[in-house]
Amino acid sequence: MANIDLKSCTFCGGEAFVQKSRIDGIVRFFISVVCRVCFAQTGNYTKEAYAIEAWNRRGDDGKAD
Ligand SMILES: [Zn+2]
Repeated sequence: MANIDLKSCTFCGGEAFVQKSRIDGIVRFFISVVCRVCFAQTGNYTKEAYAIEAWNRRGDDGKAD
């Protein structure tokens, strides 16, 4: 596994983690990146890389979806 370069939370500087949620009845995971401290999060993506990219891009736009 490659190391994942997740930036610190743009709101509070806290540590972020990748969250995978499985929706009942759908054979698919929805992946988002969530701050452990303030629970800021990205939208849901089907690929971890997309969620991470969205998270890391957030520096200039802190709005939650
Ligand atoms: Zn935070």
